[in-house]
Amino acid sequence: MKLANLNGRAVLITEDGAVDVADASNGRFGSDPQSLFDEWAAFAEWAATTASGTTHGAAAAVAFDAQSLGAPVPRPRQVFAIGLNYAEHAAEAGYPPDTMPVTFTKFSSSIVGPDTVVELPDGHVDWEVELVIVIGRDAHKVDRESAWDHIAGLTIGQDISERITQLQGSAPQFSLGKSFPGFGPTGPWLVTPDELPDRDDLAISCSLSGESMQSSRTSMMLYDVPELLVRISAVCPLLPGDIIFSGTPSGIGNRRTPQRFIQPDDVLVSEIEGIGALTTRFTAGA
Ligand code: ZN
Repeated sequence: MKLANLNGRAVLITEDGAVDVADASNGRFGSDPQSLFDEWAAFAEWAATTASGTTHGAAAAVAFDAQSLGAPVPRPRQVFAIGLNYAEHAAEAGYPPDTMPVTFTKFSSSIVGPDTVVELPDGHVDWEVELVIVIGRDAHKVDRESAWDHIAGLTIGQDISERITQLQGSAPQFSLGKSFPGFGPTGPWLVTPDELPDRDDLAISCSLSGESMQSSRTSMMLYDVPELLVRISAVCPLLPGDIIFSGTPSGIGNRRTPQRFIQPDDVLVSEIEGIGALTTRFTAGA
C-alpha cells in the first residue's frame, strides 16, 4: 500500500491515481492522514482489499500532481532523528563509533511535504537524505524480533541542516540547526514494507542540481531499523504516527573539499528504491 496526503486528505496511491480514503470507506476512516495511525491495523486491513479493487467503494481514482502532496505524516507527536548511523558518514564527520545511536529531534514545525520550496536562512545549509520510519502502533521496550510489527511503513526524508547553528557552542545545537521552516521534507508517500523489494536493503541517494551527492544502501546502517526501535523504545514509548529519521550516508556538503552548501535556485532530489523521490527547491531568504 502507498498512502499519501493529497491537499490535506488521506489517499491511497494506485496505478489509476489517488483514491480518497474517507470517500472510498464511506466514512469508516477519516480524511485526516494523521488520524489513520491511531487505528492502523484496521486501516491496513481495509486498504489491502480496497486498493486492489477497481471500484474503490464510492470513490474514483483521480490524477494528481506532486505539488499537491503534503507530508504523509503531517503532525507526528514525536520526531526522532539519528546521527552518525552510516560508518562512512561518521568517519567524514570526525566521530568515533558509538555504543548508542546519537538521537535528537527535528521540531515538528519543520516537517513539510515532498515537493516544496524552502527559504534559505543565513548560514551553511546542507543536505542529508534519510530513510524515515513511521510507527503504526505503541512501541515501548520492543525486542528486535517484533520491531517491524510496530512499523506502519517507510518514506523518504531530508534532514536539512544549517551547520553553523547545529555545531556552534560547546554543546552542539543539533535539534535547532535542523528545524528551520521547511527543513524536514518527507514523502512522497508512506510505503508499507511488503511492497518493497527488501525492506532492510534499499538504495538511497540524493543529487543537488543534477550532481550526485550521496549514494548508499540502507543495509549499511550501523543501527538497522529493528535496532533503532529497540534502542529508542527502551527509553521513550513510541506512539502511532511518530516518525524516525534514521540517519544519512556519507557525502554531505559540510565535509566535502571544498565545502559545498545549498544556494538559491538549487534543486535537491532525494530518492529511495521502491519509495520514490522528493524534490526540494530553494530560494534566497527575505
Ligand atoms: Zn540526519
